[in-house]
Amino acid sequence: MRVGILGGGITGVAIQRFLDHDSLVLEASEKPGGLCRTFFKDGFGYDLGGHILFSKNERVNGLVDELLGDNINQCRRANKILFGGRYVKYPFENDLGSLAPEDAYDCLIGYLRNDFSGEVTNLSEWAYATFGKGIAEKYFVPYNEKIWNISAEQLGLDFVERIPKPPMEDVVRSALGIETEGYLHQLYFRYPKEGGVESLVRALIDQRSQIVCDFRVLSVKRVGKGWEVSNGDDVHRFDRLVVSFPIHEAIRCFADVPEEVRQAVDGLRYNSMRVVLVGVGTESLLDKSAVYIPDPSVVTHRVCFMGYFSDRLVRPGTSSLIAEVTTNPGDGVHELNDEDLTARVVADLDRVGILEAGDVIVTDVQRLTYAYPVYTLSYRKNQATVHRYFADQGIELCGRFAEFDYINSDECLNRAMALAERLNAVN
Ligand SMILES: Cc1cc2nc3c(=O)[nH]c(=O)nc-3n(C[C@H](O)[C@H](O)[C@H](O)COP(=O)(O)OP(=O)(O)OC[C@H]3O[C@@H](n4cnc5c(N)ncnc54)[C@H](O)[C@@H]3O)c2cc1C
Repeated sequence: MRVGILGGGITGVAIQRFLDHDSLVLEASEKPGGLCRTFFKDGFGYDLGGHILFSKNERVNGLVDELLGDNINQCRRANKILFGGRYVKYPFENDLGSLAPEDAYDCLIGYLRNDFSGEVTNLSEWAYATFGKGIAEKYFVPYNEKIWNISAEQLGLDFVERIPKPPMEDVVRSALGIETEGYLHQLYFRYPKEGGVESLVRALIDQRSQIVCDFRVLSVKRVGKGWEVSNGDDVHRFDRLVVSFPIHEAIRCFADVPEEVRQAVDGLRYNSMRVVLVGVGTESLLDKSAVYIPDPSVVTHRVCFMGYFSDRLVRPGTSSLIAEVTTNPGDGVHELNDEDLTARVVADLDRVGILEAGDVIVTDVQRLTYAYPVYTLSYRKNQATVHRYFADQGIELCGRFAEFDYINSDECLNRAMALAERLNAVN
C-alpha cells in the first residue's frame, strides 16, 4: 500500500515517520514544518508565534525527549499580563494581588458574589459565570476578543474545557498577595536549545523520509481504487490518502463536492496572523517568557521573548520579542503592509513600556493565512459535516487545519502516531 500524505507540517512528517507502508509527503513550501517552522534574520531566530512544548500525554513528552536528545532546554513559565500599567502573573486569576487595589477588589468581589444566572451558551456568558464580572470584563473577555478577533458572544463553548478553572482558595489567596500558580500543566515546558521549534520537525525526518517540497496540491482525483494527486504538472498515484493541509485549501482540490459540504467549510472561521520580530540592542527583553495584552488600543495581543526560550536565538548583548497580531480581511490591520504594521507594533509597545523604539535594531514579519481555527457557535456542526464527507471518501484528515481543531503540536504528534498505527494494521 502506498500512502500519500498531503501537507508536510509537523503532522504530515510525523505520520510518515511512524508509518510502515511506503509513503510520500507532498509539501507546498520550499521546506517542511508548516506552523512549526523557525526563521532567522541577522542572528535573531524566531518561531511563528510563541511555541513551547508541553503535553499532558507522557508518550508525547517521551517522544519529544527522544527526538531532541541533548538539544533541550527545560524552562519555567514566566508569563505576565500587562494590565493598567502593571504586570500581573499569568493566569490572571492567580495573581489578583498584583492589581491596583480597586481592580483587585472588583475582581474578587465579582468572583465571590457572582450573580450570573441562566444558561451559558457562549464564551462571554461562560466568562461571567466562571470568573464573575470583574475578571471577565477587565481581562478575559477583552483578551479573548483580541486573539479571536470576534465578539465573545459569537464564540462557542468548545474550547472552554481546556481552560482550567481556578480553585476558589487560589483566587482568594492570590488577591491577598499569597503566591499561587495556575495552569500547572504548562508551568514547565520544553524548548529546543538550538534551532527553534523547527528542530523538532527536523528530528522527525530521517533517511527513510520521502518528502517532495514545492509541490502545491491542486487536484485530487479518484482513479479506480486509488487516487491521483497533481500540482498541475506532476501526478502522483496512491492507494490511500491523508490530508494534513488546511481543509479550506483541500476542498478546492476535489471535484463534485456537495454544496452542503462546501458551505460547511466556508462556515469554518479561521484567523490569520502576522508575526512581527523586533530585535533590540539591549538585554531588556529576557526576563519573561510572554506578555499578554488585553488593552484593545495595542495592536498585538501577545508578545513572546525568544531569548527567554533559548539564548541561541539572540545575539550576545541583545534580546528580541515576537508580536502576534491576529487579523481578518477587512479589519484594517490585515490590509497593513509589513512596514506600517511593524511601525504600529513598535510604537504601541514603546507606549506601554515593553520596549524603547530607539533600541530596535532588527525587524521582520511573517504572514500566516491559517493561524487559529475559531470556535464559533456553528463550529461543531460544520466540522462534523466536513469530517463525515471525507470519512465517506475513505480519506483521512489529520492535523490542526485539516481536522480544523484547535490543537497544538503535542496533539498533532499524538494523532499522527495513532493514525500511523491504524494504517499500519491495514494491508
Ligand atoms: C501563534 C501560534 C502559537 C502556537 N503555539 C504553540 C505552542 O506553544 N505549542 C505547541 O505545541 N503548538 C503551538 N501552536 C500550534 C502548532 O503550531 C500547530 O498545532 C502545528 O504546527 C500544526 O501542524 P500541522 O502539520 O497540523 O499543520 P500546518 O503546520 O499548518 O502544516 C500544513 C502544511 O501543509 C502545507 N500546505 C498548505 N497547502 C498545501 C497544498 N495545497 N499542497 C501541499 N501542501 C500544502 C503547508 O505549507 C504546511 O507545511 C501554535 C500555533 C500558532 C499559530
